[in-house]
Amino acid sequence: MSPKVHRLAKLLSRLPGVGDKTAQRYVLWLLTADPALSRDLGAELASLRDELGPCDRCGNVAEIEGGRALCDVCSDGKRDGKLLCVVARVHDLMAIERAGVMRGRYFVLGKLLSPLEGVGPEDLPLDRLEARIRDDGVTEVIVATPPSVDGEATALLLKRELAALGVAISRIASGVPHGGDLEFADPITMSRALAGRQRL
Ligand SMILES: [Zn+2]
Repeated sequence: MSPKVHRLAKLLSRLPGVGDKTAQRYVLWLLTADPALSRDLGAELASLRDELGPCDRCGNVAEIEGGRALCDVCSDGKRDGKLLCVVARVHDLMAIERAGVMRGRYFVLGKLLSPLEGVGPEDLPLDRLEARIRDDGVTEVIVATPPSVDGEATALLLKRELAALGVAISRIASGVPHGGDLEFADPITMSRALAGRQRL
């Protein structure tokens, strides 16, 4: 195999869900496809990390402008700033956005409490979350962590940590299967899960 094919295949195989064989197939396929595709792909990848980063306010994906990053949801003036939905990952935020029923804004934790994997409360951005709630005058927090052991543990931790702030805290209803990923919930299930949220 040519060293260049090998190099690119090796890089592609580091992507999630892409094994060595698939990576090699991608490289060979790109060699037969429209040359513009490789060039466009290369240009977009080269600038990806300079142009996109986590939103300064919520952690969603945002375009970086002048060293600052503000996502579409945070810059949307029609959103209700008093309603804050806490999610584990950007994938989950996107799944909720696809359902089109969330009128508030978000906060991305980045990870879940996981005693088994050594993730403790000190590893979660609780200070930033509390500051966000105070600064924005948030009155309701919807905890939309996944229905898994870690997701439930994180929801209970948030309930405890945020109790002193006097905000209403609710948890999305089941309907999203236990152990399931919010990312794969269909929009109707996600809408129902949000509508059926219960006080924590
Ligand atoms: Zn944002």
